[in-house]
Amino acid sequence: MKFRNFKTVPKMIFGRGSFDQLDDVLADERNSSDDFVVFLVDEVHKDKPLAQRIPTIGKDMLIWLDVTDEPKTTYVDALTEQVQAYAKDNANGNNPVSVVGIGGGSSLDLGKAVALMLTNEGGSASYQGWDLIKNPAVHHIGIPTISGTGAEASRTTVLTGPDKKLGMNSDYTVYDQIIMDPDLIQGVPKDQWFYTGMDCYIHNIEALNGTYINEFARAFGEKSLDLCNEVFLQDHPDSDEKLMMASYMGGQSIAYSQVGACHALSYGLSYVMGYHHGIGNCIAFDVLDDFYPEGVKVFREMMKKHNITLPKGITKDLSEEDMEKMIRTASGLAPLWENVYGPSWKEKVTPELLRSLYSKM
Ligand code: NAD
Ligand code: ZN
Repeated sequence: MKFRNFKTVPKMIFGRGSFDQLDDVLADERNSSDDFVVFLVDEVHKDKPLAQRIPTIGKDMLIWLDVTDEPKTTYVDALTEQVQAYAKDNANGNNPVSVVGIGGGSSLDLGKAVALMLTNEGGSASYQGWDLIKNPAVHHIGIPTISGTGAEASRTTVLTGPDKKLGMNSDYTVYDQIIMDPDLIQGVPKDQWFYTGMDCYIHNIEALNGTYINEFARAFGEKSLDLCNEVFLQDHPDSDEKLMMASYMGGQSIAYSQVGACHALSYGLSYVMGYHHGIGNCIAFDVLDDFYPEGVKVFREMMKKHNITLPKGITKDLSEEDMEKMIRTASGLAPLWENVYGPSWKEKVTPELLRSLYSKM
């Protein structure tokens, strides 16, 4: 047996108002007046007070990100080319000294992906998979403004490519620095707050009930689940702090375990029907009573408490071709199903089972 030797984020700052320390962190990376930093920021912040606090100086470049769709390889490549063209005109073609991703899981993943693609040739679609990245990325910093995905902690950046939705998983993907400032997640619209938060809750349920679990992953997963319960069942006054830590710890737990049935089904919904990750997970989780009875029960209490209603009957008008594609996508995620059923998962995960689950959504 070989154990996973995984990399974690080496430097992190946590605390309300800590965003203001970004300037100091970047000062350590800047050496000459030609040096520049690239800020990739969710455009939801464009007309908000945060925009005025982004510490750009000199030749720095600020790009507002469009996250209407979840990150695509084509978008990553276009952003990378935009940075390279700017570098050619303004910095003798040198790479930026740091790439800063600010926003939710989508923006955090775009920050990681652009930092990787600036030092690895050939386009992001060719690196979707495990440990295909050859060269270290440009220094990169992640700053979440909505919590739940654990993207701030993970070694992947999830991308939709020409023929699959799959991350660029590598040690180089991991952020060099993260800044977790609970102030930044204040005022996130309620539904989105819930869907993204449930991503974390579901990561924990899937990991803790999975065959891959070990004490390392359990330690993080249990604490993260406790925090989710405090946030979503108790309206704790420190909810922002708690959710931010739940997300980080959920990400740490998954690093040494795996997600399960919900994520497998949700990937199908997202790839074929375009559902975003958070809401797609909620729709899928709501039909998984047989897999995670206690987890689903508590999830429904959380939905009720926060007046969340999920879309229903979403697959009833789906073409047979799309249904088959969704089933293929879900059943292709071998490690997720192995985490659910163990090594003999193939006998259990039949097209009929997946079709019946999708039909209930
Ligand atoms: P998101 O980043 O797509 O953002 C969701 C919405 O919230 C967007 O409209 C965004 O503009 C808005 N938003 C973000 N911050 C806000 C704020 N402070 N105030 C108001 N609105 C705000 O959503 P997400 O759920 O965080 O991320 C989903 C993405 O993360 C998916 O692409 C998924 O594949 C990816 N993901 C990655 C990992 C990983 O480990 N890399 C893990 C899970 C999910
Ligand atoms: Zn997830």
